[in-house]
Amino acid sequence: MANSSKTDRVSHERVRGHVVDVDVVIAGGGPAGCAVAAALADLGLSVLLVDAGVDRHKQLAGELLHPPGVRDLRALGFGDVVAAWPAQPVRGFAVRFQAPAHTLILPYGSGITGLSLEHAALTVPLQESVARRPGVTLLSRARVTAVDRNDARGVRLRFSSQGAEHAIDARLLVAADGRASPVRRMLGIAEHHQRLSTMLGVTVDSACLPHPEHGHQFVGGPVHALAYAIQPGVARVMVDLPLGSSASMLKARPELLLALPSHLKAEVQRALEQQPAPRMASNDDWLAETVWTGSAVLVGDAAACCHPLTASGMASCFHDARALQEALHRHPGHIARALEHYANERRPAQRTRVALASALYSAFAGQDDGMWALRMGLRRYWERSPRGARASMALLSSEEPRMRVMAREYLRVVGHAFIAMLSLHGQGGRLRSAAPLLRSAGPPLRDAVASAVEQVGSWLHRRIRRPVYRLARAGWASPRRAFASNR
Ligand SMILES: Cc1cc2nc3c(=O)[nH]c(=O)nc-3n(C[C@H](O)[C@H](O)[C@H](O)COP(=O)(O)OP(=O)(O)OC[C@H]3O[C@@H](n4cnc5c(N)ncnc54)[C@H](O)[C@@H]3O)c2cc1C
Repeated sequence: MANSSKTDRVSHERVRGHVVDVDVVIAGGGPAGCAVAAALADLGLSVLLVDAGVDRHKQLAGELLHPPGVRDLRALGFGDVVAAWPAQPVRGFAVRFQAPAHTLILPYGSGITGLSLEHAALTVPLQESVARRPGVTLLSRARVTAVDRNDARGVRLRFSSQGAEHAIDARLLVAADGRASPVRRMLGIAEHHQRLSTMLGVTVDSACLPHPEHGHQFVGGPVHALAYAIQPGVARVMVDLPLGSSASMLKARPELLLALPSHLKAEVQRALEQQPAPRMASNDDWLAETVWTGSAVLVGDAAACCHPLTASGMASCFHDARALQEALHRHPGHIARALEHYANERRPAQRTRVALASALYSAFAGQDDGMWALRMGLRRYWERSPRGARASMALLSSEEPRMRVMAREYLRVVGHAFIAMLSLHGQGGRLRSAAPLLRSAGPPLRDAVASAVEQVGSWLHRRIRRPVYRLARAGWASPRRAFASNR
């Protein structure tokens, strides 16, 4: 990062030993932090982006970006970065069911493509680009260490950089510091955390992928796997293993890769021999109880993180950035109102994303009778309904955020599962799979009802409080002026 050392030098001269006021401090310079920095600088706000500097060349993390994410990045002014990425086009998912092996294509809507590329190649240029924007100061290898005050007037926080600790006052603190988010804890926001599994990633020859220009899902084997090209001739394969697994365990038990076509399986085994330290990551559900408090707000994985099989994490980061920009633009003089608006706007899509990832992970990787039946239903539904395949891909890619659409599609799959069971099994097998199948439909339907009730509630809330808010913001012309008048 040739640029960031220059940025660091300039920034340190500005902040060392002083309490410096800025409009916004962003903790974390990953996909979410960079997108939010661009979005808020675009409103004319001064932004200090503080990044601990995790080495992204060693990380197993986001590499496939769905079309809504590409669109949001362009809208945030990263069009030149996206155009320069050494990325591969993605046209949807290819889902390969095991026993009997059969692949179904889930396409994006017509004419739109996603992109896939190596994680560092995707993220490092975003950070370099945002550091050059007017209004943005990047401090890399710096870390937010404490939040001393957080109320309606703003925040006071401390950060460490180059061995010294600094204090800073800001009107708004954005926690974009990833799923384990230390800042979320500093803010006292409660979280729900569940460790799900361990992901192992290797690179193989992309010629082994049966469907070029698609993200591959290998389902129904002893373990679930994902694969997609990340550069010409190179594909990433990610294998979802039980918690605590290691590469040597997978090497010793090649039968776990049963769902992969034989030539891809052989390539993964070869990669395990040749790449002694494959990239590993944990797969977690990590959900914050609220996404804002006082003058601080959570974005990206710090706000919500789920199993990566839908590859929706980064699109969600960029959506958060645009939602926060929109909220601050609409409510320029009132941070609390803006953050509440942001929380309300993003909640329906997040609920759908998280519920879908959980339901799909169970369906793709679950080993019980109910999940076996659900896979039969998915397969039958997608085989017979091109509209259904497109609707599923729209949900997976976050293009379709409505929970009721997810619930409707889920019920259709359950219906197809029952028909598939009737045609395949004798009475005993049917009864064994039917009960768990029906139980599996419970959580998505519960989520849909809860989401609908909540949306009505927040609509009523906005209708009642809007007149009060209008009076409060009278006379504030721009977010920049409003921030200044609130310091
Ligand atoms: C195995 C795996 C595969 C995935 N695949 C995909 C995929 O294909 N597509 C997709 O869209 N998503 C995918 N994801 C999810 C995606 O990686 C995340 O959604 C995305 O990286 C979240 O970005 P973020 O900016 O919120 O957090 P992060 O990328 O985690 O960045 C957080 C940043 O905060 C910094 N930081 C931490 N603490 C502090 C502090 N105290 N002060 C200052 N800075 C701090 C860190 O250095 C880091 O730079 C995958 C995730 C995993 C685990």
